[in-house]
Amino acid sequence: MGEESKWREYWREHDVYRFDPHDKSRRTFSIDTPPPYPSGDFHVGNALNWCYIDFVARYKRMKGFNVHFPQGWDCHGLPTEVRVEQTFKIRKNDLPPDQFVEMCRKLTAEYITKMKQSMNLLGISSDWALEYKTMDPSYYKLTQLSFLELLKSGHLYRGEHPVNWCPRDETAIAEAEVVYQERKGTLHYIRFGAANEGIEIASTRPELLAACAGIAVHPKDEKYKAIVEKTITVPIFGQQARVISDDEVDPHYGTGAVMICTFGDKTDVRWQKKYHLPIIKALTENGRLSVDDPRFRGLKAEEARKKIVAELQAKGLLNKTEPITQNIGTCWRCQTPVEIIARPQWFMKTRDMTQKVVEWAGKLSWIPHFSKQRLVDWAESLDWDWVISRQRIFATPIPVWYCTKCESTIIPDEKSLPVDPRKDKPPEEKCPKCGNRELRGETDVLDTWMDSSITAAVHAGWPNKSELFNQLFPADLQPNGLDIVRTWDYYLLVRSLALFGIAPYKTLLINGMVKGTDGRMMHKSYGNYVVADEAILKVGADAFRQWAAAGGSTGYDIPFRWNELEHGKKFLTKLWNVARFVLTNATDPLPPKKPSNLSLIDSWLLASLQKLTHEVSEAFEAFQFNTALEAIRNFTWHALADDYLEAVKHRLQPGREQSDLKATQYCLREALMTVCKLLAPICPHISEAVYHQFPSGATKSVHLENWPEHEKALDDTSIRNGKLLLDLIAHARREKSSKGLSLGEKVKRIVVSTEAEHLHLLKENEETILRTLKADTLDLERLPSNSSPGREPSAEFKVEIVA
Ligand SMILES: [Zn+2]
Ligand SMILES: [Zn+2]
Repeated sequence: MGEESKWREYWREHDVYRFDPHDKSRRTFSIDTPPPYPSGDFHVGNALNWCYIDFVARYKRMKGFNVHFPQGWDCHGLPTEVRVEQTFKIRKNDLPPDQFVEMCRKLTAEYITKMKQSMNLLGISSDWALEYKTMDPSYYKLTQLSFLELLKSGHLYRGEHPVNWCPRDETAIAEAEVVYQERKGTLHYIRFGAANEGIEIASTRPELLAACAGIAVHPKDEKYKAIVEKTITVPIFGQQARVISDDEVDPHYGTGAVMICTFGDKTDVRWQKKYHLPIIKALTENGRLSVDDPRFRGLKAEEARKKIVAELQAKGLLNKTEPITQNIGTCWRCQTPVEIIARPQWFMKTRDMTQKVVEWAGKLSWIPHFSKQRLVDWAESLDWDWVISRQRIFATPIPVWYCTKCESTIIPDEKSLPVDPRKDKPPEEKCPKCGNRELRGETDVLDTWMDSSITAAVHAGWPNKSELFNQLFPADLQPNGLDIVRTWDYYLLVRSLALFGIAPYKTLLINGMVKGTDGRMMHKSYGNYVVADEAILKVGADAFRQWAAAGGSTGYDIPFRWNELEHGKKFLTKLWNVARFVLTNATDPLPPKKPSNLSLIDSWLLASLQKLTHEVSEAFEAFQFNTALEAIRNFTWHALADDYLEAVKHRLQPGREQSDLKATQYCLREALMTVCKLLAPICPHISEAVYHQFPSGATKSVHLENWPEHEKALDDTSIRNGKLLLDLIAHARREKSSKGLSLGEKVKRIVVSTEAEHLHLLKENEETILRTLKADTLDLERLPSNSSPGREPSAEFKVEIVA
């Protein structure tokens, strides 16, 4: 059992998971595996995500599909740059871009190696022949191609609009990358205007006094009615701010009057436009104050705040302060509070697409269903278009040049892709519009989601729209975590609708988040974080995968519990023992077909097996992995090991009738083989190990076997009657042991009293009863019937043992 690595080696050697693009006999099943950031970490939450994908991939292969399961790496973007900066203690601009990119590539390659090892350790069946990296020129040339296509079809534009900005990373970030966090702040009550006619305004950000372009009050607020449309002098910086009235002002916040700054938040952006207020750029791109006043120029926002507060205090303009809890937008990567800054950026017109997105979301299959609403709510909440340009280095270059005179955009020929306008020559000698010979390459780069939101099409071979493209695109499955529905699934959808007019996926399989052993969400900073390798090395991949399957319903958060992993390990030991027992007792050649002389217990086992196959198949079809695993574990542990094995042990003794022996051996092997196949998607290693123990000798991997079939109509009679017989045996056993008799000890007589309708059945199975309980005679007596219509057909027994 501790041989998991041996089987992984076997799969690699035999290329078990290879997708065959030329196979016309099988239907394809394509998975658009989300390419993770190569961060080097593969925690149990990632592992959960990949387990789900792998359960489906393995199940579909056995169902006869030609499964397309690629694995890629979303290399570009902030996370890697930040890591390089931290690892080498540099800033991105300390080095020439080429050198910085080289460092990012190297670090990325190291991390990919590490994460690939973790995925392999977990037994993930991705087809490594389909591996791709978004930082490879062969990939990012397609990102650039998609940019040019969207530009030509009018989905992109360049403009100067306010966007979310991370002052630490010095780049624009999208709304999806802003994480709201509760933080403690201070509300400062500041005196504006002249001493006798001014007003008081409360603000958490006094440093923005420098950017204050207006003051807003509520139209119904009597206190301020007289000053609407007047101007008031801003303290310290001295500019004039016009007072406007707007319904959006909360008259109960602070004093009911608020500053409108360039750009304090989204409301400020709206009001600036609506009331044509001046734009006062008081913050630089690295979050420092850019004002004429030498006392504050160049200070970081936080330092500026302190100094300005001190100044206000000194001048007697600070009336009071009070603590406040605020919901602050922060950068998803570095947790720095975001600013809003306007500079030229590239945008995708996503707001126009909201209705289409909502429509398409309704046509897709969402597992679980509630995850759909996440996407719809998100799409409907977006106020701004998607900003797709970034002011970073390690990313796909934006393939455009500009005329320095008339600012026209010059694009390259698609055949010349990939290009890097930061160093490559422009495609034209002069501006086609004005003839100017001075052209400048774009230095901004693309948002990493621009790379990773076309993966489904890229896997399918785009831009080559062959027959295979139509088979693989849209992907059959889009698996990802609930936390990235609003990013991943949204971006995938808008890109695909704009480029191809359809959604890039058919079914979305959404996993919940993993909670730590302390019940909180698993997070590095909480100290409840578990690296997947640690858990897998401790209990084995198959035990870990059982936790992933059984930990909870698909789509809901699941707790990480070591004892669940141990439980999984125990099950594997049980299964292994059962397999050893079965295979050492059923080594004889078997009849190819089901024997005709089956006892009730045999029919019961085979019928239960049919029922199990039915349940597990349905559960896999519905992506309910916990239901599938529980059914398999229950059957193996109880029906097969506790009930059947105990009831038929006597038939395996030497000297027993050959036909009985064959029937038992047939049933045992049938049950073990079926369990082995049903369990293969969840526990691939032990299933393979058991499969290879069969005396017929395995000629291929269990993962290339067909999924077990089951007859349409279940044999309910055998299940019901078998259960009755097993109940009696269990009852008699308890009786025996309560008399201090061991199970193997012979007894003279068993007296069973039960309802009349069961007597016949028990008489028919007298031999099984006697042999299992080691008794000489069986006396059957009649109990008054107490069965009522509609009652479950379980019987009441009175059992007496005569030693
Ligand atoms: Zn940041
Ligand atoms: Zn020009």
